[in-house]
Amino acid sequence: MKDVSGKHIVVAGAARSGIAAAHLLSEKGADVFVTDTGPIAEHIKERLEESNIPFEEKGHSDKSEKGDCLVISPGIPSDSEIAKAYINNKKNIYSELEAASWFNKNPIIAVTGSNGKTTVVNWLNDIWDVAGKPHSLAGNIGTAFSDVVSKTDGDTDILLEVSSFQLDHIDTFRPGVSMILNITPDHLNRYENSFEKYAKSKFRITENQRSDDWFIFDADDPVLSEFSKTLSKQKASPRQLAFSLINEVDEGIFLKDGALILTLNQKQQTLMEINDVGLPGKHNLKNGMAAALAARAYEISNDHIRESLKRFEGVEHRLELVRVINGVSYINDSKATNINSVWYALDSFKMPIVLILGGRDKGNNYCELQSQLVEKVHTIIAIGEATEAINKQLDNVVPDIINADSLEDAVNISKKRAKRGEIVLLSPACSSFDMFDNYEHRGNTFKEIVDQL
Ligand code: ADP
Repeated sequence: MKDVSGKHIVVAGAARSGIAAAHLLSEKGADVFVTDTGPIAEHIKERLEESNIPFEEKGHSDKSEKGDCLVISPGIPSDSEIAKAYINNKKNIYSELEAASWFNKNPIIAVTGSNGKTTVVNWLNDIWDVAGKPHSLAGNIGTAFSDVVSKTDGDTDILLEVSSFQLDHIDTFRPGVSMILNITPDHLNRYENSFEKYAKSKFRITENQRSDDWFIFDADDPVLSEFSKTLSKQKASPRQLAFSLINEVDEGIFLKDGALILTLNQKQQTLMEINDVGLPGKHNLKNGMAAALAARAYEISNDHIRESLKRFEGVEHRLELVRVINGVSYINDSKATNINSVWYALDSFKMPIVLILGGRDKGNNYCELQSQLVEKVHTIIAIGEATEAINKQLDNVVPDIINADSLEDAVNISKKRAKRGEIVLLSPACSSFDMFDNYEHRGNTFKEIVDQL
């Protein structure tokens, strides 16, 4: 445990994780100051005042640069003015994840990757539920890690969703189990458009692990399998467990003749048939494999893992079946905000699809979806700011592209286009901010419109 008493710590960002860190550090005796460039919500200000934590809003003053160190919220880029001030003064910057870890006594299973984090962390939550093992969900979703640290006892396993932004500013953070699900280009704007830098920030999840810890990774991902080789050459590196849909692995889990095979301590066992896994799609098979390995690292039995892999129904806004109307299934995948997740969404179905695509474009190359689109999609309904790019890039790829003015318009057109046995899929590949507050708002609006059809 780090001694922060009397240290002057500035916390930048007064949203969920920043505020949780501010309270935790203050409880531990630090002299905390909170700063935010935007307005701070009234209820948060009241809580800060009650705890005697001074703050400023709507801009950073000189005071915000006077800390011994800075604790930075994940939403604030490393090249922001406040971060630069600390870097220039050779003072340390820590993420909320790092700061919380100074006081953590609990085992941590830390999950990162470009896609699938929330699904896997919730799947772990379900396995731990089935096994009756005390646990707490934390990180990007739900409760901030700092809040969990101050409220749980040492016997509770922490199932932690970790973004690369949180990993950018770690120092001693050491999970017992670390997991990288996949690495595909996303958020590259935060990494000087360098895929290598983005990947490196994810690799940091293992940097403090030791030989009695575990690292779980996708052996089918070339970047990760290369990293695994490099890691195994390092002194006292964590034990590795791999998952693969393509090849047998030495230690981990793989697919063979329609079954999931666990191979641990050089002993092979069949875990279950893949037809019994509840969630659709290859990506979810991988997510389930990753979750199963973490559970085995914590000695949860195959029976408990099997039960959860069968029953887990997934997370809202991720390939969520909303309703079947006249034999047409309406599926909400509003969380698919990049091309890779749309690829896996399309790959999950064999039936013809009407695809609702678009929103705020992040410079997508929609042609990466070509093989899936040609095979399954007869109509694309384009929405939002991405409409022009979608039309330009996919002009000759699918039989029909129809532009819609609103999501409601898109759903109504889809209803006319989709025949019995087909799917209407909202999997936009874009962020939602051109038309909605966030992806949840977009997904909920889709569900409301579908409910009224
Ligand atoms: P994250 O928390 O990393 O954003 P989510 O579990 O919220 O991931 O899923 C985001 C989107 O990616 C959803 O559309 C989901 O269907 C899709 N997805 C889930 N797991 C994977 C995976 N392993 N690979 C690719 N896409 C995935």
